[in-house]
Parts: sequence; structure tokens; C-alpha cells
Amino acid sequence: MVKINENFLKLPGSYLFSEVNRRINAYTAGHPEAKIIKLSIGDVTRPLVPEVIKAMHAAVEEQGTAEGFHGYGPEQGYEFLREAIARSDYKRRGVDVLAGEIFVSDGAKSDCGNIGDIFGVDNVVAVCDPVYPVYVDTNAMAGRAGEYQEELGKWNRLIYMPCVESNGFSPEPPKEIPDIIYICSPNNPTGAVMTKDQLTVWVDYANAHGSIILYDSAYECFITSDNVPHTIFEVEGARTCAIEFRSFSKTAGFTGNRCAYTVVPMELERGGVKLNTLWNRRQTTKFNGVPYVVQRGAAAIYTEEGQKQILANIDYYRENARVIREGLTAAGLTCFGGVDAPYIWLKTPDGVGSWDFFDQVLAQANVATTPGAGFGPSGEGYIRLTAFGEAEATRTAVERVRNMFR
Ligand code: PLP
Repeated sequence: MVKINENFLKLPGSYLFSEVNRRINAYTAGHPEAKIIKLSIGDVTRPLVPEVIKAMHAAVEEQGTAEGFHGYGPEQGYEFLREAIARSDYKRRGVDVLAGEIFVSDGAKSDCGNIGDIFGVDNVVAVCDPVYPVYVDTNAMAGRAGEYQEELGKWNRLIYMPCVESNGFSPEPPKEIPDIIYICSPNNPTGAVMTKDQLTVWVDYANAHGSIILYDSAYECFITSDNVPHTIFEVEGARTCAIEFRSFSKTAGFTGNRCAYTVVPMELERGGVKLNTLWNRRQTTKFNGVPYVVQRGAAAIYTEEGQKQILANIDYYRENARVIREGLTAAGLTCFGGVDAPYIWLKTPDGVGSWDFFDQVLAQANVATTPGAGFGPSGEGYIRLTAFGEAEATRTAVERVRNMFR
């Protein structure tokens, strides 16, 4: 009889967003007139920019001709896109990344999960708390997380690095030395970013202990502060200890088109083996590349016009973030994030629990948020608000929450 991967049975139900939706549905069932505004969504709302649409149209036309047809492409991505990424996302910032170190994929979510394939099950993994749940759950599936302790809301083999107000929501090296360290900056859910000095501490730590940093920079395009690196490879020594994940999802509205990339430097070796070679083997075996049309669309964001157009959308979300942050702060609430990130991490007033505050805001302001406790134990006492909504709805939502506190 076949044996299933029993690690899947240890996973707690995907509680967070289903519970958020259940509560929203329960509320609207009792209050059909309520017009709920969702500041809970992590998806973008602005359409694709014209430059991307133009490139994708042209690519579709090419696919309909014998000369222009593209079948299976290179699993690592087309050279035109890898070169554009190397030039625009790295060289332009004074960072050398080779096209051969860039692996184009269908999402940072997939890559963050799949990267575990190249690491042994015995590695000790450290995650931030609160955390993007994908890092935790994929390690649990692989058998790297141990047992889930319901009462603590934690896995017993994972190291949790609290990211709380007292440390500026920035992880600190734990006592037990992890082999694999997940860092997400700009952070989902706290909206915090790590400065170059803070990242340098981690890079030095990882190099000293032979650990690997898995650096998720899916929200890089929201960085505005000068002292915040746009890539971990701005930090000296990162090429021997870090893998970086980036995505076109939030940068260019590709959540529905699926395009991202992962950088594995040639110098990165463990046990005498190049991780670039392992990842290449993994990808060429299990992945057949991102559609040609999508890659052409992604490459179009690197033209001068494409850059202007995506920046206008990013500015739109940045303005939403400002409206939320400043509006709620003026109402006497304590907000973090929202400067270099599309997420605002709001401290619940008077120590109210995350889920209770979620219910209050839903009922009194008809605004949906995401309870911080759903991202890990240290998220208790916070809710997450996102800047990806429509501008007018965002302003209305902020006004409604402010009215709760007048
Ligand atoms: N990484 C983080 C931290 C995210 O919050 C998200 C999306 O919510 C992703 C990765 C997923 O990115 P993609 O759409 O490229 O799979």
C-alpha cells in the first residue's frame, strides 16, 4: 500500500485567510447592506501597464508564425530577460550578477518553497516571527520543522526569531545556530526593512557559520530609504552565503501572469558543491520555464517607458500606504511599516487581541484587515493592512477606521 507524506498531516489547517473570509461572510450575511472594503488583500489592483501589454501582444503574434514560434524555452529563462534583469536590477545599482546566476520562474512563492529540494532534511531552519507562512509550511512538508505545537502556535524544530517593536521588527541572530535563515525585506507582514548595517551582521554571521540566507525581496520596488539595500548582493560577502528571490508580481502587477526570478551566485558552495549547479539541476528536471509571452511582457518593464509606467503604479500604492499610515497615526493609533513597504503593521489599541480587533474593525468600520496572530505568535496584538487597494476605497476605509476612534 502506498505511503503518503505524513508531514502533510501535521500541518494545521490553512486557517488565516479562510478564517478571515469566514468572518467576513458571516458578517455580511447578517448585514447585507454593509459595503466591506478589503485592506486585507495581498493582490494588486492596478492593470498591467501599456508597455507590457504591447510586448505581450507582439509575442502572441510571433507565436502564430512559423518563424516566430517558440516552443519549450530554456528552463532558466530566455537570455533577453536574464540579461535585462542583470543589467537593470543589478548592474545599474553597481552590483555584478551574471545572467547565468539568474533563474526565471513562475513565482517567488514557488521558488521559496522549491528551494528546499536542494537542502537536506536535517538542516536547522530559522524564520522570523511573524512570518510569510510559505517558508514555515514548505519546511514542515519536507519534514524539516518537526512537530506542530498547537498551544504555542510553533513547530518544535524551527527556530523562531521574534520581530517585535523592541528590536524594530528586525530579526536578531538566535542562540542556536541555524543552517538556513529566511529573511524577508521589505517584510511581509510587518512592513519593516533591514538596513545595510543590519544585513551586514547577518551576512557576516552566515559566512562565519556556513549558514545560507534565503533572502526574499519580493517587495523591493517599494524601498525609498537610502540606507536600505535593494538587493542583498549590495552587502559585501553575500555572494558566498545568500540566495535572493525577486518577483514581477508586485513590481509590475504580474500576480496573474506569474513571473519571478531567483539569483544563486556561482561562488555559493557548501560541501564542495555549487548551489547554482544544484538549483539548475532541480529546475531543469522539474520545471519547463515561464511562457514566452509572459517573459516578453516582463522584459518590457525594463525599457525606459516601461520603467516610467510601472513606477506610476508603484507610486499609486505608495500613496495608499501613506494615506493609511498617516491617517491612522493621526487618529492616535500606532502604525509601523508602510514607508518602504506596501504593508502597514498596526498595533491594536489597549492590547486588544488581533482577532478581536479584526472583528471590531469589520463590524464598526466595515473594513477587512488581516489579524497579525495569523502570521505567528509574535504577530498577536497587531493587524496587517495593505496598500494594494483602490485609492478612493483606501481613503474611505481609513476615514471609517478613524471615525471609530473619534
Ligand atoms: N514572498 C512574499 C514575502 C510574499 O508576500 C509573496 C506574495 O504574497 C510572495 C513571495 C509571492 O510572490 P509571487 O507572486 O512571485 O509568487
